[in-house]
Order: sequence, then structure tokens, then C-alpha cells
Amino acid sequence: MILPNFAYIRPRSLKEAIQHLSSEGSRIHAGGTDLLGCLRDDVFSAKKVVSLSQLRQLQEIRPTKEGGLQIGALVTIAELAGSKAVQERYPALAKAAAEVASPQLRNQGTLGGNLCQKPRCWYYRGEFHCLRKGGDKCFAAKGENAYHCIFGSGRICYIVHPSDIAPVLLAFDAKTRVAGPKGARWIPVEKFHVLPGEDPQRETVLRPNEILTEILLPPPAIGIRSSYRKVRARQSWDFALAGVALALQFNEGQVEKARVVLSGAAPVPWRSREAEKVLTGKRLDTETAVQAAEAAVKSAESLEQNGYKVPLFRGVIEEELTAIAKT
Ligand SMILES: Cc1cc2nc3c(=O)[nH]c(=O)nc-3n(C[C@H](O)[C@H](O)[C@H](O)COP(=O)(O)OP(=O)(O)OC[C@H]3O[C@@H](n4cnc5c(N)ncnc54)[C@H](O)[C@@H]3O)c2cc1C
Ligand code: SF4
Repeated sequence: MILPNFAYIRPRSLKEAIQHLSSEGSRIHAGGTDLLGCLRDDVFSAKKVVSLSQLRQLQEIRPTKEGGLQIGALVTIAELAGSKAVQERYPALAKAAAEVASPQLRNQGTLGGNLCQKPRCWYYRGEFHCLRKGGDKCFAAKGENAYHCIFGSGRICYIVHPSDIAPVLLAFDAKTRVAGPKGARWIPVEKFHVLPGEDPQRETVLRPNEILTEILLPPPAIGIRSSYRKVRARQSWDFALAGVALALQFNEGQVEKARVVLSGAAPVPWRSREAEKVLTGKRLDTETAVQAAEAAVKSAESLEQNGYKVPLFRGVIEEELTAIAKT
């Protein structure tokens, strides 16, 4: 298919961009790696496409005076992966960014677009008028569901959230800054994505005329060790079948605070509070790693074809915790 017709606007200020987005049928264009595919495949339509490319203030990575980082939504995934500041302060974030897609897509795709990208369910991307597109049926529930979720579906919609970066941001307690007609608001990454039980047609809490402008990372805590591990079907570019972001804060050999966030698991980056509970207050050894991995998958609900994800997650979490214990 070819791209349908739409007006294309390149505003020079955030205010102008928000004004354009307030007209019906407008869509944001950042790197376009996801948006243009969705328009071409008629997943949704646009009357007006508003490019963010002229908004230079969204293209910077700046240290904050508290010791954290403020990262503009238009920073490319390649810049994120290659940034010395990110590598030194949040190594798991640099690693997750380096594992996104292919070099070409990392050069073109942006941080904001990565957090706001549409799901990859093949019914949604195909010609099926499913629940997420305003229809009345989820085709994946009893259909081809090998890559669908094992947590958080509410038995409504079984997408997996596609970003590798969002789970790591959540593990680091990052916040998003969102600008709209009424000014700016801050939303924790943990509250940025929407579960099907809240609204099966939205992936984020953004309103149509709001722009994600930046991400704020708090200073890395003393004694923190972090990692991101991703398993995919093919070693070349691919989305996560199962992944885990870990941010563990140690004090005198014990885990003081734990964040365990799964990718490829649920319609949103999935925080495993069960695993965090097992880890908190303990020494991280093989036994604790096994118990935490077991706890993480206890409430999983698999479909006909995705049952393999349960042992896969258990193994990935156990291995990654064991690796952190040795560092
Ligand atoms: C073949 C392929 C493989 C991929 N593999 C992976 C992978 O392994 N891991 C992974 O994490 N991702 C993967 N991706 C997704 C890729 O990372 C995203 O396409 C990319 O990050 C989107 O960024 P973009 O700037 O191109 O966004 P765009 O395509 O411009 O936008 C994507 C969506 O977000 C909205 N949007 C963009 N920026 C903003 C903003 N600042 N505020 C509000 N809304 C906004 C747009 O309106 C659009 O709906 C893959 C994509 C492809 C095509
Ligand atoms: S899983 Fe969600 S996106 Fe996929 S067919 Fe079902 S309702 Fe549609």
C-alpha cells in the first residue's frame, strides 16, 4: 500500500505544535519509524501530521543539578545508547537502547516515539477490526497468540508493550514530562501506559493534543546495580519475547530496594512486586534468585500458544539475578 494523503506541518515551537494537534485527526511525527508504517497499513488514519523535528530543545541530554539526567523526547535511540552520561549513570538504560531493533531504526527512532509506539499484535496491524481498533472482538484470545501477554490482559486484549526502554525507565523511577494546551504535567513512567482494563483503545495516558517532551531520571542511588536482559526469537533485530530490567539497591550486602520490571510480558511494562518482595531485605544468592523468579511467574495466565513464556521468564529472571549477585 502507499501512504494516504495528509497535511504535513513542521512547527517551530512547542506552543505551535500543540495548537496544530488540537485539530481533529492530527498525529505526532517524531522519527516516523512506527507512525508511517501504521498510516501505510491503514491501522489508523491522519488528516494532519505534525512533525517535531524543528523542536531543538527536545533533542538534548542534560545533567540535572541533583545528579540525574533530563533526556529530550527527540533524542534518538542511538544517541541514548551511545551517551557517556547514560552509560555511566544508568548502564541498563544504555544496554536496553542498544538492543532496540536495528542500527538504522535506532538512528531514526526517538525515545518519545519508542514509549508511544503502537502494539505489534498482528491482528491489530492487519485488516482485523479488533477491540483495540473499536471493534467488539479480540481475535488473539483464541487465535494466533504465541507472542501475546501472560500478565495484565484483564482477558480483554492480549498485546505486549513493545518498548525495551520503558521497563528500564520504570526500574529507575523515571518521570515523563508532558506538554499540552493547559501547560505541562509530570507523570511517572509507571503511570504512563494504560492497561486494557482501564481502556482497551489507548496505550498511554496522553490526550491527543499532548506531547511527551522529556524524561527525568533521578540521580542513581548509592549501591545500585542495574541490568537489562532480552530474549528474542532471532538474534538480529526483534522485539522481546521475554525481558527483565533490574535495579537493585544494596546496603551492607543485602538488597535494600528492588525493582523488577518485565518486557514482552504484559500490555504495559510489568512490575513484578512479587519478585521485589522476595528480594527485599535478603542477601542475593542462588536460592533467593530462584525464589524471586518463581514468585514472578506465579500469577501468569498463558493462552493456548504462549505457555512457553512462563519457564522462559522464570529462567531469564533467575539468570539475570544470579549474574547481578556475582558483580
Ligand atoms: C522492524 C522494527 C523492529 C523494532 N524492534 C524494536 C525492538 O526490538 N525494541 C523496541 O523497543 N522497539 C522496536 N521497534 C520500535 C521502534 O523502536 C519504534 O518504531 C521507534 O522507537 C519509534 O520512534 P519514532 O521516533 O520513529 O516514532 P514515530 O514513528 O514518529 O511515532 C510513534 C508513535 O508515537 C507517537 N509519538 C512520537 N513521539 C511522540 C511524542 N514525543 N509525544 C507523543 N507522542 C509521540 C506518534 O504519534 C506515533 O503514534 C521496532 C520497530 C520496527 C519497525
Ligand atoms: S490482542 Fe488486542 S490488539 Fe490484538 S486482536 Fe486482541 S484486542 Fe486486538
